[in-house]
Amino acid sequence: MKIVVLIKQVPDTTEVKLDRKTGNLIREGVESIVNPDDRRALELGLRLKDDFSATVTVVSMGPPQAVDVLSEALGMGCDEAVLLTDKAFAGADTWATSTTLGKALEKIGDFDLVLCGYQAIDGDTAQTGPQLAEYLNLPQACYVDNIEKLEAGKITVTRRNDNGYERISLKLPALLTISKISAEPRYPLMGNLIDACREDAKIKIWNAADIGALSQELGMAGSLTQVVKTFSPKGKRAGEILAGEVPEAVSALLEKVREAHLLKLKG
Ligand SMILES: Cc1cc2nc3c(=O)[nH]c(=O)nc-3n(C[C@H](O)[C@H](O)[C@H](O)COP(=O)(O)OP(=O)(O)OC[C@H]3O[C@@H](n4cnc5c(N)ncnc54)[C@H](O)[C@@H]3O)c2cc1C
Repeated sequence: MKIVVLIKQVPDTTEVKLDRKTGNLIREGVESIVNPDDRRALELGLRLKDDFSATVTVVSMGPPQAVDVLSEALGMGCDEAVLLTDKAFAGADTWATSTTLGKALEKIGDFDLVLCGYQAIDGDTAQTGPQLAEYLNLPQACYVDNIEKLEAGKITVTRRNDNGYERISLKLPALLTISKISAEPRYPLMGNLIDACREDAKIKIWNAADIGALSQELGMAGSLTQVVKTFSPKGKRAGEILAGEVPEAVSALLEKVREAHLLKLKG
C-alpha cells in the first residue's frame, strides 16, 4: 500500500500578523513548524505503515527552507520526501496550490491513499484537500478523526459533522483530510533525522518542469482568485464600568439602554 501525506510549513503562531503596507504575512522572527493537522495526518499514515507495511511518501510545496519539515517527517519514519519548489509556484491561491500538488501526485503515481491536514493554521481555508480530490477525481472524506478499517480496495473512517459523527466507507484510492485524532503524533527519532540529513537524495526536489506543469497553471498566473486587500479586524471598543452601588448602576444602565433605543421600557 502506498500512502502520500501532504504537509505545509507554517509559522508557529495562530496570531498571524500582516504587513500594513503590503498586506503580506509577516514571517520574520516567527519560527516555522509542520502544520499541526498535518502532523496528525503523518501519524495516521505511519500507523498504517506499522500495521499494513505501507510506504509513506511526504510532499510539501514551499520555499527551499521547507526541507526542514520534510526532514522532520523522515525523522518520524516516512520513507521518502518530495519538495516542490520553484519561483513559478509563488503567489498561488488554493486552486493553483491544489493543481501543483495534483501534478506531483500524478508523477508519484500508483498511490492508494492521500492524507492531508484539514486546515492550515496560516491560510486557514481548508480548501486544498477537497480541491485536490476534485483535481485527481478521487472520493474524499473531510474532517476525519479515525480510520476504522482498511480492507481490499476499501477504507472506513469516522468524520465529525455539526451534529455528531458519520462512519463512511470509500473506495481506494481516496483522499482524507485529518483533524483531531486520539493519538499524539510521534516524535522524530534522532537516528532517522541524522539519516535524513546524510542522505539528501532521500528528499527529491522538483520544479515546474519536473511535474510537467505549464506556467499558466501555476502560482499567480494559475490562480482563480485574487486577494484584493488584507486587513486585521478592528479592535473591540473598550467597555464601560458603571461605578457605585448596584441600584444606581442599574438605573444608569437602564438610562443608557433607553438612550440607545435598544428596549421599550415602561414608565
Ligand atoms: C491570490 C492569493 C495569493 C497568495 N499568495 C501567496 C504567496 O505569495 N505566498 C504564500 O505563502 N501564500 C500565498 N497564498 C496563500 C496560499 O494560497 C495558501 O497558503 C495555500 O493555497 C494553501 O491554502 P491554506 O493555507 O488555506 O491551506 P488549507 O487549504 O487550509 O490546507 C489544508 C491542507 O492542505 C495541505 N496543504 C496546503 N498547502 C500545502 C502546501 N503548500 N504543501 C503541501 N500541502 C499543503 C496540507 O495538508 C494542509 O493541512 C495566496 C493566496 C491567494 C488567494
